[in-house]
Amino acid sequence: MLSEYPSRIVKLRDNARFNTICIHGGQTPDPSTGAIVTPIYQTSTYVQVELGVHKGYEYARTGNPTRSALEGNLAAIEGGKAAFGFASGMAATGAVMTLLQAGDHVVVTDNLYGGTYRLFEHVLRKYQLDFTYADTSNLDEITRAITPATRLLFLETPTNPSLRLTNIAGASTLAHEHGIAVVVDNTFASPYVQRPLDFGADLVIHSTTKFLNGHSDSVGGAVIAVRDDHIEWLTFIQNAEGAIIGPMDAWLVLRGTKTLPLRMERHNTNALAMAEYLEGHPKVASVIYPGLPSHPQHELAQIQMRGFGGLLAFMMGSQERARTLLNNVRLMALAESLGGVETLISHPATMTHAAVPAERRLQIGITDDMIRLSVGVEDLDDLKEDIGQALDRV
Ligand SMILES: *Cc1c(COP(=O)(O)O)cnc(C)c1O
Repeated sequence: MLSEYPSRIVKLRDNARFNTICIHGGQTPDPSTGAIVTPIYQTSTYVQVELGVHKGYEYARTGNPTRSALEGNLAAIEGGKAAFGFASGMAATGAVMTLLQAGDHVVVTDNLYGGTYRLFEHVLRKYQLDFTYADTSNLDEITRAITPATRLLFLETPTNPSLRLTNIAGASTLAHEHGIAVVVDNTFASPYVQRPLDFGADLVIHSTTKFLNGHSDSVGGAVIAVRDDHIEWLTFIQNAEGAIIGPMDAWLVLRGTKTLPLRMERHNTNALAMAEYLEGHPKVASVIYPGLPSHPQHELAQIQMRGFGGLLAFMMGSQERARTLLNNVRLMALAESLGGVETLISHPATMTHAAVPAERRLQIGITDDMIRLSVGVEDLDDLKEDIGQALDRV
């Protein structure tokens, strides 16, 4: 099965470095024209040379050269063995969950992405999967949540939007002692900032919609795997369920990953500077950012992250004050999503996390006065000026 679509497997020289991998991983000049950029193979089928003889591609749900290039690229970027492109981050998560069967139990980071919570609680419970939401930032809480039926530890770090971290190496060692596989949703950090497979995780999930594409113009997802049994099943399920990323979106993400290191360096420096600015501002109650010494897991962040990412959250003291701020920013866009070059500002309690029951929201630290910022790559002074004038009106 593995040899069927070879470009899905990493082919890059072993010693290539991260920035080089982002640009060249999974890609070779187009064999028919020499085009340096992998074309958008907008086709549904492939003409066979003769009966039973084809060039590696038969039908485009099963394989597409643009998608294969993206998959090779993402596998290399995450340091995995193979990657699989999906129609969205949720489709990628859905595919990973098909590794399980009825009766299996999953330990999940408690303040994770709202859509993942919805998938687990309102879809997968119907198929007799069981979930325990634990504060995975505390390894003892993981141990307490494990049952004899636990097959998967599903981590998100940093979490959305409370930016709590899980020690990936510690959690992976613990899970493996119990024969449990570890999956990390790495969307928030991006592989420039954090590579979970290096710390022992078995699977990585991405919403490529966010930092990997980076330009707010595509929806997609990916799974990166290292274990042969996982790779074999994901190859099968990607074709069997068919929730594939289309060639146009695969091409957009490939274009995005070429500049991932450049963008992430700026996201990192802009977010840190904004976090420091907000923390020092008299109208802001508190700031959560892993790069601040005030973050309870600042030390862990320095170990498992490179820079501290583009996301930060801050508290305005009341929902009314938060509303005034949100309604007065001009450059920053009031919008859901994250990871694009544009700075986005949002109100988790009524936007991204509106589907999470109010009491659960409070448990996981999403108060009504919380504002989330996905800091873009604009000029830092313009960002400070914009939020500064909005804070003046509070
Ligand atoms: C956006 C997001 C998802 C879902 O991805 P889609 O591409 O919107 O389906 C999953 N996890 C995290 C952390 C996200 O930010």
